[in-house]
Amino acid sequence: MSFRDFLGNEPTVRHLREAIAADRFPHAIILSGPRGAGKYTLAIKLAQTLNCLNLQQTDGLPDACGVCSNCARIGESLDLDARFDEAVAAREELRDADKRETRILIQTHPDLLVIPPDPPQLLIKLGQVRSVVREIYRMPAEARRAVYIFTSSAFMKEAENSLLKALEEPPEHASIFLLAENPGDLLPTIRSRAAMVRLGALPLEQIESVLAARRSELRPQQRALVARLAQGAIGQAVGFDLEAWLASRADALVILRTAVREPDFSSLFRVTETYRAGAEGQQKTSNLIRAFSSLLEDLLLLRSEAPQLIRNIDIEKELAGISQQVSIDWIEAAERGLRQVESGMRRNLLRSLSLDAFATALSRG
Ligand SMILES: [Zn+2]
Repeated sequence: MSFRDFLGNEPTVRHLREAIAADRFPHAIILSGPRGAGKYTLAIKLAQTLNCLNLQQTDGLPDACGVCSNCARIGESLDLDARFDEAVAAREELRDADKRETRILIQTHPDLLVIPPDPPQLLIKLGQVRSVVREIYRMPAEARRAVYIFTSSAFMKEAENSLLKALEEPPEHASIFLLAENPGDLLPTIRSRAAMVRLGALPLEQIESVLAARRSELRPQQRALVARLAQGAIGQAVGFDLEAWLASRADALVILRTAVREPDFSSLFRVTETYRAGAEGQQKTSNLIRAFSSLLEDLLLLRSEAPQLIRNIDIEKELAGISQQVSIDWIEAAERGLRQVESGMRRNLLRSLSLDAFATALSRG
């Protein structure tokens, strides 16, 4: 993949490539932006460019060849989900005592270390940061610049403090990337030691035209809908499972309709009954919460007379009708109720019970 294939945020990307050309690439960089904006893809691409053995030029700026031994091995980290699953599976194979001690790290090149949140809590843990601190002062074996990529800003407290030490005196031969949806999650002392780079949302038209090329099975109206639901994040848009989303939204609509019209609890409970405990139910419930949340945001936008900003454009008419039947207070109370279902889910309450409680409370409110 060339930088020409990296969509959006052109000035930001150009600036980073100029820094490589001028040999003044930052040693610590916070790459922020929404999920799916391309933070990880860009970090990998920059790691390749910093270390390519056959450096190319595109548009007058450095670009990785993608095929030399450094590019190829760094590129193997690009499929983060697959590498993560392999690392977790490898840990599962270990003896219990070793399992507890072993932290998830991904290394497809001796001088590239990818640090994802460690399951089951999905936080970056002290053991992971210690591995980085141990490695980072070692000279790169095959790369010009060793690269460390933290894929999340959700750190355990001690881990974050330990990272701070590495950032105080980063060695010349290394760069640390911190990927963050919200850089405000990171300690101010960490933020002040890193260059801040933000990947913004892409315009709807650009996302729609990429979808036309890459998701040709989608009809134009579906592309328009997906572009809005992805909220400017190209990676989200390209991988968007519209069918699953529409199924979750249909359930959210049943709850919403029941709440604002004649209460018909039988259809409501038929929906909530299908949400069960366990990992699958948890995924289903978080999809429902996300879909419900998008409906509530749209209701707020419709009430605030900003219909051009709504996301669920295919059901605008119905939402406009509902928005006339509820107050802003009601919408905000519903949003708080949703957050409670979410936190109940984290505490592992019975899914369908907390959903039922939410739905009946909405109808009474
Ligand atoms: Zn190369």
